Amino acid sequence: MKKFLCIALSAVLCITALCACSLSDNKPAEVGFEAMDTFMSLKIYGQNRDSVLKNVQGSIVSLDKLLSTTDKNSDIYKLNNAGAVPVEVDKTTVDIVERSLDLCDDVSGALDITVYPVVCEWGFIDKDYKIPDQNRIEQLLQFVDYSKVSVSDGKISLLTNMQIDLGAVAKGYAADRGIEICRNEDITSALLNLGGTVAAIGAKPDGSDWKVGVADPENSADYFGYLSCKDKVIATSGGYERYFIGSDGKTYIHIIDPKTGSPVDNNINSVTIVSEVGIKSDALSTALFVMGVDGAEKYRRENSGFDYVILTKDNEVYVTSGIYDSFTLADNFKNIKVNIVD
Ligand code: AMP
Ligand code: MG
Repeated sequence: MKKFLCIALSAVLCITALCACSLSDNKPAEVGFEAMDTFMSLKIYGQNRDSVLKNVQGSIVSLDKLLSTTDKNSDIYKLNNAGAVPVEVDKTTVDIVERSLDLCDDVSGALDITVYPVVCEWGFIDKDYKIPDQNRIEQLLQFVDYSKVSVSDGKISLLTNMQIDLGAVAKGYAADRGIEICRNEDITSALLNLGGTVAAIGAKPDGSDWKVGVADPENSADYFGYLSCKDKVIATSGGYERYFIGSDGKTYIHIIDPKTGSPVDNNINSVTIVSEVGIKSDALSTALFVMGVDGAEKYRRENSGFDYVILTKDNEVYVTSGIYDSFTLADNFKNIKVNIVD
């Protein structure tokens, strides 16, 4: 009898311990911090969540140090100031540059990591905004050509006067690194919000989908809709994120068309991409913004592995069929026109 009581008591203790463990697993480890010129927040559930949180944050901070265009110790700064001399860089820098070059190619140059000198000329880096004269833009466009970047034996070389910037893809790449760290530690529920690029890892602890808001351009603290998803990276590029109004009264946004050297001036307000790969979502959000509504639709017909939500300036929404059922408009946007893109 005593033995039976002992076994029963141990069983109860075990179950209590398991319950306590799964209850405490439902509490996330959380952190908010600034990196890559934006505010980020991470929420990780499950065992080892505290150490995984530290590793993911550490990995983002290290990437930021490697890829910053302004930090004199970064790989990208060294590369941008080396003229045409090959520069030995970290293998992570080689990896992100190689993958970015492939993506620039995939979108026929709508994304171009060598557009940086033009971005600077318009004042989007030092915030001393100005409309450059056309001759200056044409001069700078001579050095905008991602196909001239070469990578070999751990070294990267540019042409003289050429400079690169990975700002359009870095958060997506950081999201992929975060996902990899979480997977290696068997984390099945986490939300990594890297400011405009969100990795929804697994499902919420109760098994339901994550709901990721798509920012309302008029009020970026609010949402015009949200996506229900699991294991996806959602990246948004918005003209509203950084822009200035010129002396001519026109609005100039921070997304540049590498063909013209001028800020994109089309009917798009924001592009949100959903895919399983962060760098792809981030690259395509910028590239499809440059392509415009029709260009994006054409690209989507010819390529797979992603979906999008495009919000136009006249408040129409274009949603691809793959995520139509998982996209919900916010209450005060219910009467805007939604077009399905097959
Ligand atoms: P995102 O917010 O991901 O769309 O990235 C926009 C940032 O990438 C801008 O602030 C610029 O620094 C840079 N950028 C702008 N236009 C382009 C382009 N067409 N290709 C690559 N990078 C760009
Ligand atoms: Mg992007």
